[in-house]
Amino acid sequence: MDRQQEFVLRTVEERDIRFIRLWFTDVLGMLKSVAVAPAELESAFSEGIGFDGSSIEGFTRVYEADMIAKPDPTTFQVLPWRGEQQGTARMFCDILTPDGEPSLADSRYVLKRALAKASDKGFTFYTHPEVEFYLFQALDLDAPVPRLVPVDRGGYFDHVPRGSAHDFRRAAISMLESMGISVEFSHHEAGPGQNEIDLRYADALTTADNLMTFRTVVKEVALEQGVYASFMPKPLAEHPGSGMHTHMSLFEGDRNAFHEPGSEYELSKVARQFIAGLLHHAAEITAVTNQYVNSYKRLWGGSEAPSFVSWGHNNRSALVRVPMYKPGKGNSSRVEYRALDSAANPYLSFALLLAAGLKGIEEGYELPEETSDDVWELTPTERRALDIRPLPQDLDEAVGIMERSELVAETLGEHVFDYVLRNKREEWTAYRTQVTPFELERFFSIL
Ligand code: GLU
Ligand code: MG
Ligand code: MG
Repeated sequence: MDRQQEFVLRTVEERDIRFIRLWFTDVLGMLKSVAVAPAELESAFSEGIGFDGSSIEGFTRVYEADMIAKPDPTTFQVLPWRGEQQGTARMFCDILTPDGEPSLADSRYVLKRALAKASDKGFTFYTHPEVEFYLFQALDLDAPVPRLVPVDRGGYFDHVPRGSAHDFRRAAISMLESMGISVEFSHHEAGPGQNEIDLRYADALTTADNLMTFRTVVKEVALEQGVYASFMPKPLAEHPGSGMHTHMSLFEGDRNAFHEPGSEYELSKVARQFIAGLLHHAAEITAVTNQYVNSYKRLWGGSEAPSFVSWGHNNRSALVRVPMYKPGKGNSSRVEYRALDSAANPYLSFALLLAAGLKGIEEGYELPEETSDDVWELTPTERRALDIRPLPQDLDEAVGIMERSELVAETLGEHVFDYVLRNKREEWTAYRTQVTPFELERFFSIL
């Protein structure tokens, strides 16, 4: 037993923890949880806990259903919302096959594999996500179409007096901090009831784990306060969607490899090639970074969500934005990818963003001209002249492009790649057969 494992056992004993939840994530990014009693912990560490993988989205085929969840002791945390007495804690798990090999269906492993590739080249990958979400008044989730009433009418950076969003953010942030997750900023976003909480940057595996915890904490705190939190990419047609802009940087030791004093925007060659990689492969990875039919309502619904592949310095219409450089802050050099939405699987998305950026470095991709224009204002002809291509316009197109991508197949591995394609095609087929309120309103009475 290693020191981390001993620490967990000791803490469980000292703090009278009665349940330990073992967490892992399915291929779509949904959190799964199985609780074990403290007496089971030692064997969970040595052998793992068996479960039936065939019931988990994207895991196994029925004939190879047995899977093993092995907790990662470095992720041990007490869950504050379960109370101090006879508490509950959680650890993230790695998923193994019965022969003890990493499961090829485990999103966490997909990211670990991508990170190992970066580390072979001497890089550590850091991410810092800005998570947007909506708060709605308590609603009847069993209703076929829940009626969505935002908790307030606030807008960007509004301070809503006595607003529930304010109390909500304070409660959510103190809970996150008590679980060791640092929050950098939080504010009211542009939509009514829409909020944003930005996590402090950390290595991508920690950030992905933190995002899974974040979503759970936000949902729990919302329930406690009698409201409902949603990470759906575009819940309200007439208001902005919920993006998860992600800031990224590569470090070599403690030096930020994106920073080069004296060059344009202080961006190093590595950073320029990384951005070029993101742009080159953006369309291929969109079925994962924007994985639901609803995601495309956000991407094509205006309100500062990116629709075209371009980059710019402080240009909010660009897919990749290079934030304003603060002199003397070389280590904060970074690039922001703005397509990702709040419902993405963070493990798979970070793995693909990293792989796309690294490809740019490996192949020495040339960074195209930056766009200073508002790309939405340009005419299609102007965009063509500038070689600004659109992101996929719906899930069907995104899946079609992903299917032909070697980069995505290689990064996700065959199992996850095939599963995502199959799952997303099914979603598209189900969606395509719907007759929507739009059609009835627009056509029924005139046809
Ligand atoms: N809500 C916008 C989006 O969907 C982003 C707004 C912002 O710039 O923070 O991406
Ligand atoms: Mg925002
Ligand atoms: Mg942003």
